[in-house]
Amino acid sequence: MDYLGSEVKSAGNNGHSVTFTLTGGNSVLSGGPLTGKYTLLQFHFHWGSDNSKGSEHFLDGKQYSAEMHLVHMNQKYSTFSEAIAQNDGLCVVGVFIEVGDEANPAFQSVVDVVKNAQYNGDTAAVNGGIDINKLLPESEEYIHYIGSLTTPTLNECVDWINMIEPVRISEEQIAVYRGLYHTAKGEANPVQLVNNFRPCQGLNDRKLNIKLSSFERRSWWSWWLRWFRR
Ligand SMILES: [Zn+2]
Repeated sequence: MDYLGSEVKSAGNNGHSVTFTLTGGNSVLSGGPLTGKYTLLQFHFHWGSDNSKGSEHFLDGKQYSAEMHLVHMNQKYSTFSEAIAQNDGLCVVGVFIEVGDEANPAFQSVVDVVKNAQYNGDTAAVNGGIDINKLLPESEEYIHYIGSLTTPTLNECVDWINMIEPVRISEEQIAVYRGLYHTAKGEANPVQLVNNFRPCQGLNDRKLNIKLSSFERRSWWSWWLRWFRR
């Protein structure tokens, strides 16, 4: 992982999530289960109306309060639409977010921007960039599987890499996400933007590779049943 915080220029509320967009194309992910290099395009969040729900993935039956998705595109494709038509087009890194007592200083730079994208259609500037590496858990253990896009078409084009260790933010910090709106500013019936996760789906015949050491291939094995994909 080689992410440049200076490439994070703005964040937008599209009514479904808040998405931080990168420019420049020099934030790159490679190695692990991936062949080739993948450029980080954007990261966004899923969260619940309370701490008992919010993540799109479940780990050993547990749903976390929120989940961050870092969306990467394979550098061998030049456009997003080209990439999603291929089975090696995208890689999404998922990070579980848990709510604890202490504020997460690295996340505060994110939260301060989220605050400024309150309504659907709002865009907020990112001043001074975001240190993306500090938003990730310390442990590099992850689960990998081939899955689909979250948006309709649901192409099986995504290498999912889900970090096993969660990161922690405070009640005050997650409250900022829950303060966002699905509706645009000035709409007569404002709708809160919460529970923007897809219900858990069965694993079907999918095999999971679980990686318990680092972002290099070492000991892989399949893990059945206890992990569910979106
Ligand atoms: Zn997502």
